[in-house]
Amino acid sequence: MIVAIANQKGGVGKTTTAINLAAALALRGQPTLLVDLDPQANSTMSFLDMRSVTRSVYDVIAEGTDFADAILPASVPNLFIAPSRISLAKLEAKLVGELDAHFRLKDRLEALKPAYPTMVIDCPPALGLLTVNALVAATHLLVPIQSSYFALEGTDDLLETVEKVRARANPTLQIMGVVITMHDKRTSLARDIREQIQRVFGTKVFRTTISKSVRLEESPAYKESIFTFAPDSSGATEYYSLCEEVIDRV
Ligand code: ATP
Ligand code: MG
Repeated sequence: MIVAIANQKGGVGKTTTAINLAAALALRGQPTLLVDLDPQANSTMSFLDMRSVTRSVYDVIAEGTDFADAILPASVPNLFIAPSRISLAKLEAKLVGELDAHFRLKDRLEALKPAYPTMVIDCPPALGLLTVNALVAATHLLVPIQSSYFALEGTDDLLETVEKVRARANPTLQIMGVVITMHDKRTSLARDIREQIQRVFGTKVFRTTISKSVRLEESPAYKESIFTFAPDSSGATEYYSLCEEVIDRV
């Protein structure tokens, strides 16, 4: 399974979901690869010191570097990181005119499938070449939507991109689900937003909702997932339960 975590809206919880879902999947025992496809490198920084990153996904995709030379282990058992660096921002310009520009990641990940049966791709907040590469490579798409008044803005464009990718490049791409993040269950606004999201996405909305939690904001600073940083927190319970739902839906 290759799960792309995408939503072109910024700051909706893609990275927080990618790092903790990948950690939860790894803790079940299967080697799991977290592919950081965002030039901001937030997933990478959540587990690694940037000084230890000498080769990134950019070098793999654009320069033909061996994936094995870029991948580094995280603090979580069975979790490995294909790191990003700011250089990824140059990818679009670098691949202009290349016929296989949209297939580069898929082609490079192919050989890694036996070693990493589970992969999670953290996408940047845009619908450009990087996110399209993720959607072409992925078996499943998971969309985090922030519990906010403008929650659904932009999801039409995301779904349109998914349709184009399905029609041209990856017909079996499945929308695995939508997870509501940064939810504050005490407010009636949050309940309204949940209903609104459910009206649009129906049963695609995961039963698990990720609450607002300071612990989830803090754990990356300690290079840990929520499961070791605050195992008794709501964030740990909720991301564990999201992982169970993800497994059920595959
Ligand atoms: P970008 O589009 O910039 O890549 P993103 O979609 O990856 O952003 P995150 O980086 O995961 O979003 O989250 C944005 C901010 O919100 C971060 O500071 C993060 O720590 C915080 N955050 C994410 N989820 C939660 C949560 N459930 N509770 C509290 N804070 C959260
Ligand atoms: Mg992010």
